[in-house]
Amino acid sequence: MLRDKFNREVTYLRVSVTERCNFRCRYCMAEKPFNWVPKENLLSYEELFAFIKISIDNGIRKIRLTGGEPTTRENLDELVYMIHTYAPEVDIGLTTNGYLLPSLAHKLKKAGLRRVNISLDSLDRTTMHYIAQKDVFTQVQEGIRAAVDAGLLVKINSVILRGINDHEIVPLFIYAKEIGAQIRYIEYMENSHASNALQGLRSDEVIDILGKSYPFIPINKEVSGPANLYETLDGYHFGTIEPHRHDFCTTCDRLRLTAEGDLIGCLYFEGAKSIKDAIRDGNSKKAAEILEDVVINKPEKNFWGIENIEVSSRAFYRTGG
Ligand code: SAM
Ligand code: SF4
Repeated sequence: MLRDKFNREVTYLRVSVTERCNFRCRYCMAEKPFNWVPKENLLSYEELFAFIKISIDNGIRKIRLTGGEPTTRENLDELVYMIHTYAPEVDIGLTTNGYLLPSLAHKLKKAGLRRVNISLDSLDRTTMHYIAQKDVFTQVQEGIRAAVDAGLLVKINSVILRGINDHEIVPLFIYAKEIGAQIRYIEYMENSHASNALQGLRSDEVIDILGKSYPFIPINKEVSGPANLYETLDGYHFGTIEPHRHDFCTTCDRLRLTAEGDLIGCLYFEGAKSIKDAIRDGNSKKAAEILEDVVINKPEKNFWGIENIEVSSRAFYRTGG
């Protein structure tokens, strides 16, 4: 079992399989990075799997594949299959922009993927184009349909930005409810890779706007999850993810692994330890020690939105968000 010094059990590993992306979302990768990590520095699927196995053996129960855009890395279903075959009880999820799901959703489901979180910030083609800086609307809609058809458990992630898509809070809610997907409104996190002058809505503003259209009540915070959940009168659940909230980190149960093998205890902080050499040397004992060390030294909490405290300069497309 992995437990940090604040007595939080760590059971969730987010694995970024690539930092590359086929979108240029203004809040994440507004411009193509100056340099991509060279391919030889990336861990192969076999190497990622070698570390994932060690994590599972030590108590990880949930794995989420993310990126960059994870579906842009070829044969992602092979990695899913390796994990699923090794530990069928482990809950495997994917976070994706949905663009490549039309051809991949069924394959991934067959390989053992259980859930998929799809980022959808707008139901308007022009607004989607503006945010992603690419005309993606139709294909993302098809991707969402393919995920639902494949029987994956779908959630919709929406980042709400003032003056850009804040008039779509209710339409996005209705859309997600209709397709049977939980929607989670994610607060925009300030970072140096985003376009200047973006401003996110805080969750209480989102909740106020929704509350004018739908009666709902808060339900218990997801066990060890980051979302605050709400339930409408007809039993639909939706959530907000509020990294700016003071108690956001009290139930944090996660670690992040980048595609080049840096293991990160908290998105907010610069601190990371590489497992690459240990894995490439076949030294499982060393990799397990690094895992334990990163867990023990997991920071107590983030400082999003607190002025004059420096945020890690690592991009979300490297850490997987
Ligand atoms: N490309 C995939 C996608 O977009 O879903 C996976 C990687 S992306 C970095 C993971 C999540 O981080 C997405 O839901 C995205 O909306 C979110 N994200 C990226 N930048 C963000 C920011 N500045 N603030 C809040 N959420 C952000
Ligand atoms: Fe790519 Fe996802 Fe970042 Fe958008 S949020 S640029 S889709 S990694």
